[in-house]
Amino acid sequence: GAFPQKRGLGLVVQTQMSKKGRVFSGARPTGRQHLGNYLGAIKNYVALQADYDCVYCIVDLHAMTTLEDLSQIKANTAEMALDWLAAGLRPEETILFVQSHVPQVTELHTILSMFTPLGKLTDLPTFKDKVRLQPHNINYGLVGYPVLMTADITLYKADVVPVGVDQQSHLEFAREVVRTFHHRTGRQVLVEPQMKNTEFPKVLGTDGKRKMGKSENNHIELALTPEETEQMVRTMVTDPQRARRDDPGDPEVCNVFTLHKSFSSSEDITMIDRECRTAGIGCVDCKKLLARNLNEHLQPFRERRAELAKDPQHVWEVLHDGARRASAIAAETIAEVKAAAGLP
Ligand code: ADP
Repeated sequence: GAFPQKRGLGLVVQTQMSKKGRVFSGARPTGRQHLGNYLGAIKNYVALQADYDCVYCIVDLHAMTTLEDLSQIKANTAEMALDWLAAGLRPEETILFVQSHVPQVTELHTILSMFTPLGKLTDLPTFKDKVRLQPHNINYGLVGYPVLMTADITLYKADVVPVGVDQQSHLEFAREVVRTFHHRTGRQVLVEPQMKNTEFPKVLGTDGKRKMGKSENNHIELALTPEETEQMVRTMVTDPQRARRDDPGDPEVCNVFTLHKSFSSSEDITMIDRECRTAGIGCVDCKKLLARNLNEHLQPFRERRAELAKDPQHVWEVLHDGARRASAIAAETIAEVKAAAGLP
């Protein structure tokens, strides 16, 4: 399977291998993760651990800019951390923590905001999108979102940030803020983060049309039971041209086939590609096979998740331990930044 075998948590492994640098990435606490999160982010997070020192942050402060209901942040944080750990993030080498547990990020955010032209922030397409999406809640934090993101990245001295196309403008923005800070203070104390351009697949939801996402209610969670998974897969929309069992289908336009490509063997993929086009296999059987392969693929993840879920306190200990390690880096950066900025 793609998921690593069970291993003990909490042991401290000194990584002696020299890695290529430090990666930072953050994600808002959205609770139980779905196949889109897995293929589009988590899988990459796990893989990056081989080559980089990784710092992965659950950005609860960022989440506050868009949430109406704040009561779910804590539970969502724990659920997401469970999924990350079960999927193979290794807290003994990777720093895994909650953004608000290291308060220096808000301090750096304030300092960097003084080096950020307001017009740049309000011109960003992502800000304009948010204004359209939540016209009733255009809060101050929403405008400063990219500055907080810059603070996240630079506080932990990240060399590299993995970004897809939609995040490129934010990273370019972060690099500009760093350059402005260096230019105005005359001190090169921050690390200007490099973009690691990554092809992130866009996973469509069960409707076969829109991006898989919680808000679209078209998502399949990793932590479902095998039966629930089969039930969700059964609801998936297939090639709309294929109305009857005898109609030949076009796998290229079918999201069930797309998921087969991520979770099934090459033999199964070849077979479905052929048999769908000739109506040799119907959508019902094709979905049954997908559900079976998904369940098989996710079984080690689910076992590990169930084991971790037995001890909720342990997950918080992992996150607090991550925050302690993150704080050590943060304390250094903040001292250097304040000195550079001439603060007494
Ligand atoms: P965030 O606002 O932190 O990006 P999301 O839950 O929307 O929160 O996404 C978390 C991560 O999962 C992001 O890297 C995002 O690109 C990825 N992701 C979410 N949905 C999908 C999807 N349907 N296809 C591919 N990647 C996705």
